[in-house]
Amino acid sequence: MTNAPVRYIVLHYSATYADQDLGVEDIRKMHLDRGFNDVGYHYIIKRDGTVQKGRADSTVGAHVAGHNTGSIGICCIGGLERASGPNVGVDNRTDAQKAATIRLVRDLLVRHPGAQVVGHRDLAPTLCPGFDVRSWWASVDTGSASTIAAPEIPPTIRNGSRGEAVSDAQHRLRARGYDIIADGIFGPRTEATVRQFQRANGLAADGIIGPKSWAALLD
Ligand SMILES: [Zn+2]
Repeated sequence: MTNAPVRYIVLHYSATYADQDLGVEDIRKMHLDRGFNDVGYHYIIKRDGTVQKGRADSTVGAHVAGHNTGSIGICCIGGLERASGPNVGVDNRTDAQKAATIRLVRDLLVRHPGAQVVGHRDLAPTLCPGFDVRSWWASVDTGSASTIAAPEIPPTIRNGSRGEAVSDAQHRLRARGYDIIADGIFGPRTEATVRQFQRANGLAADGIIGPKSWAALLD
């Protein structure tokens, strides 16, 4: 299903505490536990401002009931404070997260002119993301030229690699229909699958996921 035209850029929080340094793999695990087939958001912005790619922009997300088609979901990690507990959403984005959000939203607006920048709570009964996105965006959007907030390219991985980047790649291959287990271990089966993916995408079929293969996987 094609996620177009994009009418809304929707900001979210992860409803986690400011001292929890989560990333795309943590959010993906939560969403898989909820029965989604992948992380529901298109972008994750970590506490340090790192932008991570979730779903492909062209894939319909799972982040806002009734408006998933035609929207891009961005999740800033955070939104809760220990002092106020789990039921009070606040805007506790770091300066790095705010700056990354501004760059990313500007870039998305270049690609999707006319899209509205809104919060989850503008479209559904929720507190997320804990602040008034429209007025925040109006206060920061100076209309200056876009600076691309490029999602980070994960490290090069190959046979023998283990860890988060491996399971991230495996999940992305699964999402493309490849029969592979996302166990975070890059073994012969993963290598063979990577070669298949590379051949199907006109890449050198070396079985190693470097910058070019990552770019294709993250697209
Ligand atoms: Zn939300």
